[in-house]
Amino acid sequence: MLTKQALDYLLDLLFPKTCLVCQRKGSHLCEDCFSLMEINPFQRCLCGKNKGVFKCPECPSSFLDGLFVSADLNQNVLKKTINSFNSIKELSMPLALIILTHFFLLEKNRFPDFVVFPRPIDKKEEKRTGFNKTKEVAKLISEKLKAPLMENPDQTKDKSVLVLDIVYDVFVMEKLAETLKQNQAKEVFGLVVAKH
Ligand SMILES: [Zn+2]
Ligand SMILES: [Zn+2]
Repeated sequence: MLTKQALDYLLDLLFPKTCLVCQRKGSHLCEDCFSLMEINPFQRCLCGKNKGVFKCPECPSSFLDGLFVSADLNQNVLKKTINSFNSIKELSMPLALIILTHFFLLEKNRFPDFVVFPRPIDKKEEKRTGFNKTKEVAKLISEKLKAPLMENPDQTKDKSVLVLDIVYDVFVMEKLAETLKQNQAKEVFGLVVAKH
């Protein structure tokens, strides 16, 4: 049996990884480029005007009980990483790390009674990329938060749900939150890597 180091060495020899931003060898996104990204240290309400509350009086009515936006999409490194995630499955790791860093900055690392629900990807999209993008990130988040991964809306009855997506889309998120509420989810929060 090969050791993990030997396997990594061979894989890197056959399929060398270069940083998608600075082209440095060794990983798809190097630590230096990762650290260039600004991660939100605050949680904002749905309309974005107020910090530290899920809904303010000016927020639009919504099926969501709140939203966690890990970073602002308007950053080149982040845009590049998200675009490249269409073809590089391993980028699920830095993307999950952005979410976990956001929670760390919020000092929120416990989600008792929560489940993680990845935004369902249609078969065409999964066929094109060869993997399920939201599920790849959700698996890592589920493992680190110790919140079970659930993909069937029926399983979310009486649960608090974190609906995971890569980039926030208000229509997609509302539709999902509505469906989950119809399935008697207790509360539904959006959780996205980035928002415009
Ligand atoms: Zn780099
Ligand atoms: Zn608001």
